[in-house]
Amino acid sequence: MSESWLAERTHAFESSGIRKVFDLAASMKDPINLSIGQPHFDVPDEIQNACIEAIRSRKNAYSQTQGIGPLRQKLSERIRSDFPNQDRDVLITSGTSGGLVLAMLAMVNPGDEVIFFDPYFVMYPALVKLAGGVPVIIDTYPDFRIDIQRVADTIGPRTKAVLLNSPANPTGTNASDNELRELAELCNRRGVALISDEIYSRFQYDEPFVSPAKYNEQTIVIDGFSKSHAMTGWRVGFVHGPPELIAAMTKMQQFTFVCAPQPAQWGALAAMDVDLGHLIDEYRQKRDRVVEGLKNHYELVRPRGAFYAFPKVPHGTADSFVRKAIENQLLIIPGNIFSARDSHFRISYAAEDQTLERGLEVLRRLAH
Ligand code: PMP
Repeated sequence: MSESWLAERTHAFESSGIRKVFDLAASMKDPINLSIGQPHFDVPDEIQNACIEAIRSRKNAYSQTQGIGPLRQKLSERIRSDFPNQDRDVLITSGTSGGLVLAMLAMVNPGDEVIFFDPYFVMYPALVKLAGGVPVIIDTYPDFRIDIQRVADTIGPRTKAVLLNSPANPTGTNASDNELRELAELCNRRGVALISDEIYSRFQYDEPFVSPAKYNEQTIVIDGFSKSHAMTGWRVGFVHGPPELIAAMTKMQQFTFVCAPQPAQWGALAAMDVDLGHLIDEYRQKRDRVVEGLKNHYELVRPRGAFYAFPKVPHGTADSFVRKAIENQLLIIPGNIFSARDSHFRISYAAEDQTLERGLEVLRRLAH
């Protein structure tokens, strides 16, 4: 193969460091795996049955680009009840990632800036660059709060959008109601789009979830079923927002993803009637277990959502600390995957309690 076959954009990002930890995990015998970004429970039976039933009743073709009618209908009803006076359309996407890709393709011109916050979800820099955009990243250490004045000072003539993720991967923190309102109003005032990645909206433990769309009706909300219903492999997400933008994203979907997998969309329809309350309670208890288990040993901003904690390493770099953890059978992710800094590490507590306890024990041992 000629070197010139590879487009320059392929050099703009390395393959995900998380994948490297996964590859390592595959070669280890009985690792303590706290690296995984998906729920530890399986897809609930009702959802599996709906998907199987869809396959058996020959719902295997392309769906409409915008998604199957009943799922769009049901989501629209929920969106109308959450935002009663807003004009929003909905599009079913190939996962939340698909929604993010389409948002970038539909909104970002080469050279446009997209602001997001460090630590950030791994895909964000790559997604912005894929569309020819420029990531503008605001550091939020040590408390991972959003400094509205800093965002206001960072917005410039090329700023197209602010990309927010609350509750957040990898920190597990969530923006306060006040931060959300101020950010939403700032974007509105300055004519900048606000894209809200709400994939962890069901996993918020200390207060009810609030979307910034409540304060800015132009907010583009991106969500999905991967985390809430453990359907990461099924690839079903959705986007809702201003109708003209949803129409542009639908056009982009038509010529890229085509549609989300149809049988999985029928599964997602069933998922909307599945009560997740007991699982969320379980995750809240796991969060408490992590906070309690590490509190005298690590600097940790109390996580309030998602299923991650992001403690500071006690000494050295996160990379060297994670290597030491792996030597002790514990798989965690170094902070530099999600950040310009290399001072923290991510634990996913989407694991059995027993696994979690084993992991916390190793971490307490490595702390001193
Ligand atoms: N956004 C965030 C913040 C995530 O953590 C993830 C998954 N790790 C995604 C989006 C992508 O999720 P999906 O499986 O729906 O594409």
